[in-house]
Amino acid sequence: MKLIEHYVGGKIISGKSNRKGKVFNPATGEQQSEVRLGSKNDLDQTVEVAKKASETWSLKPSLQRARIIFKFKDLIEKNSDELTKLIVSEHGKVYEDARGSLTRGLEVVEFACGIPHLLKGEFSENVGTDVDSWSMRQPLGVVAGITPFNFPAMVPMWMFPIAIACGNTFILKPSEKDPSCAIKLAQLFTEAGLPDGVFNVVNGDKEVVDAILINKDVKAISFVGSTPIAKYIYENSAKYEKRVQALGGAKNHLVVMPDCDLDGAVNGLMGAAYGSAGERCMAQSVAVAVGDIGDELVSKLSKKAEALKVGPGMDKTSEMGPLVTKEHLEKVKSYIDLGVKEGAKLLVDGRKIKLQGYENGFYIGGCLFDHVNKDMIIYKEEIFGPVLSVVRVKTFEEAAKLINEHEYGNGVSIYTRDGDLGRTFANKIQVGMVGINVPIPVPMAFHSFGGWKRSLFGDSGMHGMEGIKFYTKLKTVTSRWPSGIRSNPEFIMPTMK
Ligand code: NAD
Repeated sequence: MKLIEHYVGGKIISGKSNRKGKVFNPATGEQQSEVRLGSKNDLDQTVEVAKKASETWSLKPSLQRARIIFKFKDLIEKNSDELTKLIVSEHGKVYEDARGSLTRGLEVVEFACGIPHLLKGEFSENVGTDVDSWSMRQPLGVVAGITPFNFPAMVPMWMFPIAIACGNTFILKPSEKDPSCAIKLAQLFTEAGLPDGVFNVVNGDKEVVDAILINKDVKAISFVGSTPIAKYIYENSAKYEKRVQALGGAKNHLVVMPDCDLDGAVNGLMGAAYGSAGERCMAQSVAVAVGDIGDELVSKLSKKAEALKVGPGMDKTSEMGPLVTKEHLEKVKSYIDLGVKEGAKLLVDGRKIKLQGYENGFYIGGCLFDHVNKDMIIYKEEIFGPVLSVVRVKTFEEAAKLINEHEYGNGVSIYTRDGDLGRTFANKIQVGMVGINVPIPVPMAFHSFGGWKRSLFGDSGMHGMEGIKFYTKLKTVTSRWPSGIRSNPEFIMPTMK
């Protein structure tokens, strides 16, 4: 069976650990490969390699770094079909969706190509008499990324292109459920001319993560995953004196106002709730029906959810692929059982689905609950599957209160024709990423991605200028070049006279 190894110092290397994980093809349910689960020793050795590489990479002019990143961009484009197929084969999502996620990652690489401009500092002449002051941003050294299964290309690409463009060296610990894409990206970066040791991949699980946390030469951690692990990373990064950004889970609401374009809202909800089988941190898993729109909304949604075409990701007619693993499928099904027990009305039950020829695949059809309320567990917790809950409220204020009181604050949307209401919503809602008549408000690469509340621990979001700041240290220089007689010592705080 194929064994997926680590990528360190510009080549694939065998780890010392004997522990291995299983990688499945979710479409068939068969195990397709094994992945080496690295040890603390593997991680520590990789840090040494990255530290050595950092000595020269950090000094390379940013324009030269940008040229390598530009070649990397070209290679991703040339290999996009292979990368997309890797995503489909290990994650399960449908081909076009996988391709779209790769493109969103590529956009961060494009952003990073502008690094000479992005790293320009500030300069002030004559902050005192004959005294000038300027600020610059310098790399941190060795930094690490720990990523989730649901975007095996895009989420790592939120991190490493910018970190590396800023002059850092990078160690990626991808999800052990779908690790192949990370290795392919590392190989392409080497092919683009990236010096060995600047971008490394160490496969593994908690053991590697804990080794990253305690290694004193890892200066910063970017994490994306579930909230309990994000909190663990955040707390331990502080304990071990590292800079950290830890993005967690979500429960996103889409508010449907009575005046909206209802067909637009229904189509938006269908893609946002069931796209990628709901395994997106920006999935819209709660539809908030305001006023008297509920019955019509639910009637339109039911018809479409019943008609959802579920199938293997490589089948061009599939709208939704399988879930990532059997365990995850069981977890999602258990939430549906729970919703029924809690008294929500299950209008569309995807548990019944059977696919001929793919009986062992990890499939579930789209599920639709009506009359969900804020006290139900299926409302409070992230299900991370194709399950849409409809909550009915009387007013916009009630909808906003519901959202503001939820523990998560990743993404939110409103569908309305009322511009004043849309503006009030954007202004007042306690959520990091807001859409107005846009179902999934994922910011572009040159803006920054990040939620609020328990969807993000730390101060900065991913990519855009937040990314540049996260991966660099600010240094401010104050200088004077006296040519005459030196002044006497001054024992008081210098101020402008
Ligand atoms: P996860 O938290 O299980 O795993 C994420 C990473 O943490 C993986 O690399 C994994 O190996 C590691 N990990 C898992 N358990 C660990 C432990 N006990 N100690 C140390 N490390 C551990 O998340 P997942 O299931 O891979 O991904 C789905 C989650 O990610 C969802 O909650 C989703 O909302 C979230 N997510 C959030 C965003 C965002 O931007 N906020 C984006 C994508 C996914």
